[in-house]
Amino acid sequence: AHLDRLEALEPAVHAFLHVDREAALAAASRADEERADGTPPSPLAGVPLALKDVLTTTDMPTTCGSRMLEGWTPPYDSTVAARLRAAGVVILGKTNMDEFAMGSSTENSAFGPTRNPWDTDRVPGGSGGGSSAALAAFEAPLAIGTDTGGSIRQPAAVTGTVGVKPTYGGVSRYGLVAFSSSLDQAGPCGRTVLDTAMLHEVIAGHDPMDSTSVDAPVPKVTAAAREGATGDLRGVRVGVVREFGGEGYQQGVRDSFRAAVDTLTSLGAEVVEVSCPHFEYALGAYYLIAPSECSSNLARFDAMRYGLRVGDDGTRSTEEVMSLTREQGFGPEVKRRIMLGTYALSSGYYDAYYGQAQKVRTLITRDFEAAFAQVDVLVSPTTPTTAFRIGERVDDPMAMYLADLCTIPSNLAGNAAMSVPSGLSAEDGMPVGLQIMAPPMADDRLYRVGAAYE
Ligand code: GLN
Repeated sequence: AHLDRLEALEPAVHAFLHVDREAALAAASRADEERADGTPPSPLAGVPLALKDVLTTTDMPTTCGSRMLEGWTPPYDSTVAARLRAAGVVILGKTNMDEFAMGSSTENSAFGPTRNPWDTDRVPGGSGGGSSAALAAFEAPLAIGTDTGGSIRQPAAVTGTVGVKPTYGGVSRYGLVAFSSSLDQAGPCGRTVLDTAMLHEVIAGHDPMDSTSVDAPVPKVTAAAREGATGDLRGVRVGVVREFGGEGYQQGVRDSFRAAVDTLTSLGAEVVEVSCPHFEYALGAYYLIAPSECSSNLARFDAMRYGLRVGDDGTRSTEEVMSLTREQGFGPEVKRRIMLGTYALSSGYYDAYYGQAQKVRTLITRDFEAAFAQVDVLVSPTTPTTAFRIGERVDDPMAMYLADLCTIPSNLAGNAAMSVPSGLSAEDGMPVGLQIMAPPMADDRLYRVGAAYE
């Protein structure tokens, strides 16, 4: 049914870069047989899923939305893909994304944009717009995204779906093609908080193949979602971040957020205002740290190891081939980040830029620690605006970067955060998201509050 739905809607939505119908049907029959035998490997056996094309898969290409990797099929499965397969989850295909996960609209994909199913003239957010659009279009009930600065939560918010950035290290990064290694985190997406929790438990947990993976029990997120579903938040302390939600936010987003806070109060939560004074520097710090790490990580695309190789006709030096390949293989946003990062890391500038940004990162982490000493979770709008129109921000990188204003602090600090649907904006009828943030390894709190709220 999902494959048929997908075939009918993909011409309008373009959520997927690759669909493997035969493999999906075979995996679904295997799950059916195991279920008939009474031995399904997990409660999600046979459930279809859309996988962001930044996670490696041995049976399908992994392009990261880039010409650089067009046609490349990896020699190993990411841990996320391997765990999905082991649980009997049916991977329908790979979803569209901004090139190497750099962007907030999926317009930076080398293979054309994805459209928001709520209004196909608008973006589905990014970088994981394909995964969230697949959910919103009912092409798949579950999806996987990755979140470096908001790429799970921001698309979730603007497509009216649920997305979770787990605690940094909570889900293995093995086989997640690196953008900014200290920020990248894979996570679950769904249409309900409980679905998302069940997927979270399938993919999370320690992995010896990722040295930053946390060696501790996975938070009991499914139990927390079930508890939250009773709608009782008595005893839960919720902090409203004073620095988020003022100027620069659409009125429809502000109204939705105010209503969300009232709902949490009516469910019994104790709501207080907290201040995180360094959050205003988060965007600036992020746009030094992420490009710096990206400039180093993307050095591996050297025309020798993977995918594209341009101009190798026997007359050119290795360096010329490398340069031609990177010139033609990377899009403008990726080049912009590599240039910014290379500059910030150059000798003489390191202390002024990268070093400063790392200090700001520590201050933001301390703001979170101080806030979580007073409350169990923090809340804010997920994004300052609803989905913008395709093309509206492509020529203005600064406007594009603002989409992640509220999501970036949690990446810098490494704590857990969720976006849960918060109704439609009275201004334009488009979906709005409520962001919930919890301390590291307290991901279960997101699910309790999210399930009570939804
Ligand atoms: N929009 C942000 C960026 O362009 C976040 C991307 C992400 O989370 N992968 O860097």
